[in-house]
Parts: sequence; C-alpha cells; structure tokens
Amino acid sequence: MGKVYPSTASAEGRPAKIDRPSYFGCHMNPAEVIGGSGDPLNPEIATEKREVVLPPGIDRQAFDKAIAELRETLGEDAIELNDVPLNHGNYMAPPLSHDPYSVLDDEYFAGCGAVYPSSTEDVVIIVKWANKHLIPLWTISVGRNLGYGGASPRVAGSLIVHLGRRMNKVLSVDPDTASCLLEPGVTYFDLYEHLRAVGLGEKLWIDVPDLGGGSVMGNALDRGVGYTPYGDHFAQHCGMEVVMPDGSVVRTGMMAMENSATPQAFNYGFGPYVDGMFTQSALGIVTKMGMWLMPSPGGCLPFMFTFPEHTDLEQLVDICRPLMLNRLLHNIPGLRLGVYDAATYMTRDEAVGVENRGSPLTAEQEKAIIKKAGGAAWSFYASCYGPPEIAKGHLEMIKAAFFQVPGAKMYLCEDVPEGHYLIDRANVFSGIPTFRELDWQKWIPNSSTLFFSPIVPVDGKEALAQVEIFKYRFLEYGFDFFNVFYIGPREGHNIVILLFDRTSPQQRVNAMKCMRAMIEDAAKLGWGEYRTHISLQDQVAETYAFGDGALMKLHEQMKDHLDPNGILSPGRSGIWPRRYRDLGLQLGLNTTHAETPNPVVERMLKEKQQAKPKPTYGTDELRASQKKGGTA
Ligand SMILES: Cc1cc2nc3c(=O)[nH]c(=O)nc-3n(C[C@H](O)[C@H](O)[C@H](O)COP(=O)(O)OP(=O)(O)OC[C@H]3O[C@@H](n4cnc5c(N)ncnc54)[C@H](O)[C@@H]3O)c2cc1C
Repeated sequence: MGKVYPSTASAEGRPAKIDRPSYFGCHMNPAEVIGGSGDPLNPEIATEKREVVLPPGIDRQAFDKAIAELRETLGEDAIELNDVPLNHGNYMAPPLSHDPYSVLDDEYFAGCGAVYPSSTEDVVIIVKWANKHLIPLWTISVGRNLGYGGASPRVAGSLIVHLGRRMNKVLSVDPDTASCLLEPGVTYFDLYEHLRAVGLGEKLWIDVPDLGGGSVMGNALDRGVGYTPYGDHFAQHCGMEVVMPDGSVVRTGMMAMENSATPQAFNYGFGPYVDGMFTQSALGIVTKMGMWLMPSPGGCLPFMFTFPEHTDLEQLVDICRPLMLNRLLHNIPGLRLGVYDAATYMTRDEAVGVENRGSPLTAEQEKAIIKKAGGAAWSFYASCYGPPEIAKGHLEMIKAAFFQVPGAKMYLCEDVPEGHYLIDRANVFSGIPTFRELDWQKWIPNSSTLFFSPIVPVDGKEALAQVEIFKYRFLEYGFDFFNVFYIGPREGHNIVILLFDRTSPQQRVNAMKCMRAMIEDAAKLGWGEYRTHISLQDQVAETYAFGDGALMKLHEQMKDHLDPNGILSPGRSGIWPRRYRDLGLQLGLNTTHAETPNPVVERMLKEKQQAKPKPTYGTDELRASQKKGGTA
C-alpha cells in the first residue's frame, strides 16, 4: 500500500505562495497590463478604441452626466469606461470589456464600464445612483466566470460593479469554528496564502475549484463546486451582508444580530431562510460572506482508477452511488472521459495533425489519442481523507468495489510520472489551488469554452445516455466531445465542455446551435442545468416550467417588488424586471432549436415509456399492494 501524499498533511508539502504573474486580475483592457494578448495561440492585439455601448434608453449626454456625478462622489479612478479595444486577454488577465469566450458577436455582452467600490457604503451609493439614473448594474466579485460569460453583463451597456478590486480583505478567521468572513475579492489563492501567512494553513484547509483565480464568494454565489468534502460551496457559506436594490443593507443568519456570538457558526438564524435568494440572482449585492473551512483531516490519499471500455461508465456510476451515499468516497470525485483527460497533455494538432482540422475526432482517433496519453476510456480521480490507517482502510473498500469492473487499474501518486494530472488533483484534493486545468484549453487554436452543465442522476444507464445524447449533438455540429462527471451522493454534475475557435463565425453559430439543442434534448428527459452561459439563461429558465412557469412568476414577483426600477443584473438567470420585459432582449425562447431529432433521446423516451415504473415506496403504493394481499 502506498504512502499518504505528503503535500496534504505536512508543512513542507504545502507551499506558502502560489506562483502567478504580477498582473493577475480582471482588467478593462488586458493588453495594456500584460503588454500583449498574452495568449501565445492568439497573438493579435486590437488597438482601436471603441464607442461606449450605452445602457438601453440612455443617451450619451445623460450617460456622461450620470458618470460625472458618480465620479464626483467615488473619485475619478473608481470608474473606467469601456471604450477600449476588445482584447481577449487570458485566464491571468481576463477582460472586463466583454466575454473573452464570446459565442455571439464580441460586442453583444459589452458593458458601458466598470465601477470599483471600496466599501459597503460605496455600494449603497452606487445602487442609489443607479436607481436615480436608471442605469443597469451587473455585479461581479472577481469576474473569472469563464465558460459562463466571464465578467460580462447580460444587458449590453450595463455598468459592471467590480467588488473585488478594492474589497478584497479576509476580515477574520476563527480557528475554533473553522470559519472565516470574507470580502468579495478574496480569491482561492488569497485565502490559501492568508491561512498560511497567519499560521493556520496546516490546521484549516480550503476547498478549491479546478482553478484558483476565482472569488471564494463569487463562486459560491454562482453555486460553483470544488473537490474536497467541502465541494458544495454555497452549502459552506454562513451569513451574508447584502446591499438590496433600494440601497438598504441586510445581514442574514446570525449576522442579523448586532452582537452575534455565533456569526459564522449557524447559518439559518431565525425566520424564513433568505440566503438562497442571493445566489444566481439579481436581488442583492453581497458585500461580506462567512465561509466554513475544513479542519485538516490529518491526511489525504488521492488515487486514480482507469477503466478500459467506454460502456464501463454504466457500471462505474452504479458503483459510485452507494460509495457516495455511505460517504465511503469522501470528496467530490471526477470521472473524466479518456480523450478529455488526454487533452491535458497535448494539443489537437499534436494529437492528430494539422491536416485533421475541420472535422470532429473519429472513434479511432479518440482511441489513438488515449493510447498516446497512456490513459483509458474513463479515469476516476478521488481521495480518501484522514490519518493514514483510516484513509488506507477506506481505500481498500473502494478498491473492492471498483475492481469489479473488468480491466480496472488503480494508481497512487507515486505510481505516475511527474507532471501527471493525478499529481495536480492531489493538490486540489488537499485544498491547494493550481492552474493545471488550463492545459486542455489549448486543445485548439483561439480556444473558447462553453460549459453545458446538466444534473444527472447517479444512475449508470442515465449517465451513459447523457454521454451518447450530447456526443451526438457535438458530432452533428462538428465539435470534439469532452466531459467529466463530478459525482455527489444523490446527483452528479455532468460538465460537458464545448471548445470552439472564437475566430470562426461558423463555429460560433454551430456552438450556439449545439448548446441550444442539448438544453432541449436534456429537458425532454427531465435533466436540467445547474448553471449556464448568459446567452442561454432564458432558455434554461424556460425548462423549469412546472405549473405554467410558476417558479419564474415567483422570481418575477420578487424582482418587481424588491427592484422596481430593474437596476440589478437584469436578465440574470432569465429573470427580467418589468421595465425590460418588452424590449425583446430575451434569447431563444418559445421555439424549437434542434434541427434534427436526436435518435438517442427518442430511444430513451421509448425505453422509459416501456419500462416497469420504479417503485415509489409511497403510501398509495403500499395501500395498493396491501389490497392485493402483499406488503410493498
Ligand atoms: C478551465 C476552467 C475550469 C473551471 N472549473 C470550475 C470548477 O471546478 N468549479 C466551478 O464552480 N467553476 C469552474 N469554472 C468556472 C469559473 O471559472 C469559476 O466558477 C469561477 O470561480 C467563477 O468566477 P468568479 O469566482 O470570478 O465569480 P464572479 O464572476 O465574480 O461571479 C460569478 C457570478 O456570481 C454572481 N456574483 C458574484 N459575486 C456576487 C456578489 N458579491 N453579490 C451578488 N452576486 C454575485 C454574479 O451573478 C456573477 O456573474 C471553470 C472555468 C474554466 C475556464
């Protein structure tokens, strides 16, 4: 049995600082900061200044007057106008000017500028100003929401409220309750390094998503995920301070007491629980948030299993279900498609040659790429936690489960060469932020990412069907299919990754068609997305249609009541304030998008119709069976 990976429990293995460039952060024009586009695959740098895109219904004179008024209050340098060239930057320096992974026209989601508040009081001033001038605001903490829209607003011409640039302090850390209170601009890198710097880095671990440059608060508010046992980020928050659309300031949970003795210890407080209202929403600007930290579990034993056959997925997911439900798998494991895993190590041109650009990978090419990378059809990355004897004991049970799959192999960190993805995961699983996940983004030149993120039952048959259904659309529209399942106890997040060349108008059109068709396919089978790109939020919201769209009606009622001028992030999550509903800004509603029927969807629907209904174990079923003389 192998050793427990040293980075996880010992001071030597946990770096004090994570290397990153000095220009790390979101910028209005990243080319100015990094002296180039910074993307070696896309060396073009735009230099032409542009006209500012104005908010709907506001003319230039009124806009200039309003901006001058805000500058007078907050200071000249608190606002930057978006009259800059649209440079795409890179992960280290993404733009505030537009969505660098733009699937529509680059200008489509361009804001009018960005404002950088320094305090909650500044945010109140901005909100009151926006109400007075009817200028829409778009809230971000850091703005690295890449794959879902970046820093871009849904309504062109909105003013971005970039909280993180100046409000970026760790306000407190409480080792006794393993919790902290943060401002919006604290990134995973910052929090990790802060804990190290104050001498708590061995005691308290953080949970990180794939990349550490995002905001701990922003990610949780978009209901993002990471990969330790604390991977459901919103579930780890505890207490908020929120600026409401009318400029009033509310604190939630125990933070609502002026002198709370337990501000980050109990998240519900008293009365209706409102915190969820501020996630994926446009109902408030969160200026402080409590987060729980993971007490060091005393060790972390990362491991990888590989499985040879594509169809092994079905058995694998079924094996995961009891392991997750019974907490034998401790963290949020990732089950990666082999060809996606391989893309960590090579570009597409290196894999199949420049001559094979222009059409999606064939099954033979996929197999050859996996072989070249030394991978398998599926790779499963996870970790056991605890002192070595406990972690190893758990691993034995996990091995017994996964070795039921013919051809399964298991690897520990010491079994793989330096530079292997498992080594990176070992860091992520122990709360050390990394950049490794950027590697597969170099798969194609000018690569842009769209994430399609449906929730999947932890059910092998459904997981395999999702792969077949979405891959069918990828091939139809000419893209290489990549996906990874992040598996929870009761559901999985299937992250389907669409990489397209943003310089190709045809690929942009096809990427959009592909995403829209997949949303439709998924909805037919009862699969909904947990999060989506701003261009697709109207369509996804429309699929949550129970009771003639009762949920959307409730959202609209809350929006109209709390934000009658519709100034906070209009269009966020498909929720449009009254003032915007008739402007025709919604995208992709009330229409069928798929150009052809998806045969796998048709097959699944038929199978579902013909299948014996799953037992409900409900009272009606019990009574019916008792009538027949049985039990349940
Ligand atoms: C290669 C790659 C890998 C990725 N891996 C992951 C992953 O593992 N897990 C994951 O979750 N995501 C992942 N992402 C998506 C994204 O990069 C992260 O979720 C990132 O943390 C989001 O950006 P941010 O933290 O800067 O949030 P922001 O852009 O600041 O915020 C995101 C959204 O939350 C809301 N919001 C933010 N702050 C506030 C506030 N203070 N008040 C009110 N609303 C607010 C806004 O609607 C905003 O649009 C990945 C992206 C890429 C490109």
